[in-house]
Amino acid sequence: MLLILSTAAALNVAKSITGGLKSQGVEKACEDNCQQYLHWDLGLVGLEKLLIKPNDMLGNLLSSRGVEYFKIDQLIQAASSIFPFRSIRAGKELTIVTDLADSSVQALVYEPDPYRRILFHLEDSIRVEVQEKETETKVETAGGTIDQSLWVSMDEQNLPYELISAMEDALGWSVDFYHIQKGDSYKLVYERKYVEGKPMGIGKLIGAEYTSGSSEYYSIRYNSGKHDGYFDLEGRPMKKAFLKSPVEYSRISSRFSNNRFHPILKRNKGHFGTDYAAPCGTPIRAVADGRITAASYTSGNGNFVKMKHDKTYETQYLHMSKFGPGIRPGVMVKQGQTIGYIGQTGLATGCHVCFRFWKNGKQVDHLKEKMPPPQAMDPSQLPEYFKIRNEVKAMLDGVDIKKAPVEKEIDLFQS
Ligand SMILES: [Zn+2]
Repeated sequence: MLLILSTAAALNVAKSITGGLKSQGVEKACEDNCQQYLHWDLGLVGLEKLLIKPNDMLGNLLSSRGVEYFKIDQLIQAASSIFPFRSIRAGKELTIVTDLADSSVQALVYEPDPYRRILFHLEDSIRVEVQEKETETKVETAGGTIDQSLWVSMDEQNLPYELISAMEDALGWSVDFYHIQKGDSYKLVYERKYVEGKPMGIGKLIGAEYTSGSSEYYSIRYNSGKHDGYFDLEGRPMKKAFLKSPVEYSRISSRFSNNRFHPILKRNKGHFGTDYAAPCGTPIRAVADGRITAASYTSGNGNFVKMKHDKTYETQYLHMSKFGPGIRPGVMVKQGQTIGYIGQTGLATGCHVCFRFWKNGKQVDHLKEKMPPPQAMDPSQLPEYFKIRNEVKAMLDGVDIKKAPVEKEIDLFQS
């Protein structure tokens, strides 16, 4: 098996390479069944991998390998409607399949992406073939205990970044991934795509569990057609809706605008928030669960609080007379919890809260944001959901958590 490959390698590497293409040498083209490469017998053909450089002309390459011009023309014609030569990109690899007996070019093989293979045939008839590679989706599990950070823990297990992002979607409303505790643990059930046996991207995150101290959070993905998203063990949506306003009884005294006359600065300036007027001292509530990222003072904002809700949304509350009990950076708060009180600190003309809504780091008008409230599960769908939940939960509970490495004290003076 290996012998055949190395024979092919020796023969091909020995060949001179022209046309500006640089040989990468012959690599192992197959992992398991190396008697064959695609449908060629490796005892009869050689494989040569080339790295395509800018301005490489395939026609030149072929003619330098002795392919007649009329054949090259036919191939260009055949390719034009299927995969034109100009679609071949510099920086990618091209495999030349040659007949070991007479070095004639049998075919070119090009992979535009991990899912397709283009075969330019020259052996019997001149034709171009697009092969879809065999893909498979497997359900896999992972888990770990956090020693430094979630990112480090997942990275140590070679879990791709997409999985961290998916985990934020599943649990981001309940777990503050930016302030995790050492010793917290996670378990995941997810799909992974394989192309011809090679692991590729992550598919759906099917379930996630996170333990912090004595709190456990489960998130199960469920799509019934009517409901699509993450739900807790009782079937309640993991994603929470935002309250419409941060003050219960209030009126809007100024709306979001990109340009308005500022009553104190006496000039036109954008107003990137919505003002809710209410008597000074009225409680201001968090519009959704989240983490306090700032509780401080600036001359413009006065006393203000900023919160992060998930990876997309943040909210900010300005001009407070004082902060709510226990409100300081890092604290997790619940929707509706009092985070401060209406005041007129900073640049403010009367008692109000200037409510600012941040989406992906940009201030937007929350009244114009389309945020469909998370759909509660239909009671009629709960039995089906519970069946899926039980299966996924059993898989999650079965994940063997890798223990965080134990830190060892090194005694430098030990003999
Ligand atoms: Zn305002």
